[in-house]
Formats: sequence, structure tokens, C-alpha cells
Amino acid sequence: MAGELRLVELTKRFGGGRRRGGGQVTAVDGIDLTVPPGSFFALLGPSGCGKTTTLRMVAGLTEPTSGRVLLGGGDVTGLRPYRRPVNTVFQSYALFPHLDVFENVAFGLRRRGVPEVAERVARMLSLVQLDGYGARRPAELSGGQQQRVALARALINEPRVLLLDEPLGALDLALRRRMQLELKRIQSEVGITFVHVTHDQEEAMSLADTVAVMNGGRIEQLGRPAELYEFPASAFVASFLGRSNLLPGEVVGRAGGDVLVEAYGERWSVPVARSRAEHGPVLLGVRPEKLRLAGAGEPVPGGHQSVAAVVGDAAYLGVSTQYQLRTRWGTELSVFAAADGVTTPVPVGASVVAHWHPRHAFLLPRTAAGETPA
Ligand code: ATP
Repeated sequence: MAGELRLVELTKRFGGGRRRGGGQVTAVDGIDLTVPPGSFFALLGPSGCGKTTTLRMVAGLTEPTSGRVLLGGGDVTGLRPYRRPVNTVFQSYALFPHLDVFENVAFGLRRRGVPEVAERVARMLSLVQLDGYGARRPAELSGGQQQRVALARALINEPRVLLLDEPLGALDLALRRRMQLELKRIQSEVGITFVHVTHDQEEAMSLADTVAVMNGGRIEQLGRPAELYEFPASAFVASFLGRSNLLPGEVVGRAGGDVLVEAYGERWSVPVARSRAEHGPVLLGVRPEKLRLAGAGEPVPGGHQSVAAVVGDAAYLGVSTQYQLRTRWGTELSVFAAADGVTTPVPVGASVVAHWHPRHAFLLPRTAAGETPA
């Protein structure tokens, strides 16, 4: 498809014997992915997981060790950066300090000898809501305004794909949230494919149609934000995207449409459709906000699963209270109770029952180390 970006077994290894004591680092480990044209795609992961290296290989700034980068059906792996229909916006903006805003935005057009510079620049400045700022120097702008100039400067080249490497990383939280809304508006207006790198899960989830969660140079899961959150594919995704309670157990069989799990002498069920493992060692996951609390001995709603525990800690956060429970076998459970004005707070030390509906649980395979296999 035109504009489609595909990475095929893309790998990057750094180092390898020349430096003393410096072994090889596999920064990106055989990534396969397809970014549909016109989508807002986020690469999300912790520091050092290989996001920037992936982006740099798409831009042509880092040469892959192996694998291919395809754009709009053509192989661009061997092309110089300026020959690729791609532009990058960096966290550092990288504006030309001696040029005014107008000339910064006009730069790409002038280099290519494109006509109607003034009209095009004016249109771009209007898109990023900087009409009237053309004569200013970058040093006379706020961080958010400089980032808009960087965006306009990249978008004026009409790339097929715009790469954004932590573009909001240097902004304070309030401005960051405002710029996220701006980015989303701009992307839907121009319709260009955006590939956005971030370690901020809230940013990725609020902006992107599709999120790829990276860990250790690999993609652990790719999907819509709600899919990743509701049915994570690994312990890493379950804990990196929000919080999860993960109870180690063993599958002991099936009952109808449910997988039966035993742990600590108790038995729970998880619908088959919510299970990524149907035998052997597993992790039973439930999000903290999906757990409800009842007093010890109080009935729990029909069909709910439950665990008896004691409240070890309670933190009042305004919109919710976050409880840390301790089960009789020593596992900690997190529970987020919305401050709905109806539920009475539970004191520390109280005996409670944490309960959930099986459709809110999920089941992951578990290795000996307690993690989901890669
Ligand atoms: P961050 O969010 O901190 O920017 P990242 O996910 O973008 O991290 P990368 O910058 O892609 O991660 O780095 C991935 C791994 O590759 C890291 O272990 C890093 O130390 C290593 N690495 C990156 N660039 C080089 C290089 N030029 N030489 C050697 N190792 C490198």
C-alpha cells in the first residue's frame, strides 16, 4: 500500500570486540512490523529498549546489521537519509538558531527549489498555530513554540512518514499534555503517518491508534491501546502499561469455557478467550481497578472469584484510594477503589475479601523465572 512502512527482521548490533571489555549490544533484535498509511503509531518502551535505534534505521541515520526497511512498497534500506520520504522531529528541536522562524520552516523548500515558499510557510505556521511568529528567532520562543516550529519544518516537506523521537520530552507536564492534543489534531489534519517514540505510556495510549510495546530490542505486543491494556500478552506489557496483580499458579484443567488455575491451595477460573496458556505454569492477572473489596464474611457477587487478605496500606489520592493487601500466603495485591462517594474507606489492618469477575482476569504463560516467555 502506498505510504505503508514495513520493517522486516530489522536488527542492529553495536560494538563487538574492538573496545576492551565492550561486548556486543543487540539494540534491535529482528523486528517485524507494519505501520498502516495515515496511522498514528507509537513505539513505547523503557529506556534502552531500542526505540531510538529503530527510528534511526527508518530515517537512514543508523545502518541496520540485517533486515530491511520498506516504504510504500519500495526498499529504502540502502538509501541515504535525504533520499527517503521521511522527516524526523527530535526532542532537542534542532532548529537553526541564526534563522528566524519563517526561514527555519522554509529551509527544506528552499533547498529543493520549491516555488510559492511564502504561501506554503504561512499555511504551515497556521497549522501549528504560530501565525505572526515568522520574524522571531528560536531563542525568542518557548519550548512548546520551538517544538511547533520543528514540526512545521518537517511537515512542509510532505514526508510519507514523520518520525517523532520523544518530541515532547523536554516540556513540563502541563505543556506536554497540551502538545499531545495538538499533535493529534495536526496528524488528523495532514493525514501523514506519524511514528512516535516515547517511554510515557499515557502519551502513547492517548495519541496512537496502534502501539508497539518494545522490551530488550523486541516487540512484545502490538495493538490498539485498549487491546494491550485489557489483554496484555506478557508480564512485561501487563506491568509497563498500568499496573497488574500477577498470581503465579498452575493450570489444572478445563471446565466448559474456562481454564482452571490452582495456586496456594485455591482454585480460580479464567475464560479460555482471556487465556494465553492452557496448561503448565501460568500467571493469573487482574488489574487493580478491577478488584473490589468486601468485608471478611460479607457475601461477594455471584460468579465472582475471591481472595481473603488484610489491608496493609491505604493511600488516599483524591480520585481513588490505593490499597495494598497482603494475602494469607504472603502475596501483595494492589486494589484501586474509585472515590465514588458511596464506598466507605477501609482501614489499615482490616480483614477483607478482594473479588473480581473472571472476565476481568487474564492468563499468561510463566517460565521458571516467573516471567512470560519472550
Ligand atoms: P531511551 O528511551 O533512553 O532513548 P531507547 O529505547 O531509545 O532508549 P536506544 O537508544 O535505541 O534505546 O538504545 C538501545 C540499546 O543500544 C542501549 O543498550 C544502548 O546503550 C545501545 N546503543 C545505542 N546506540 C549505541 C551506539 N551508538 N553504540 C553502542 N551502543 C548503543
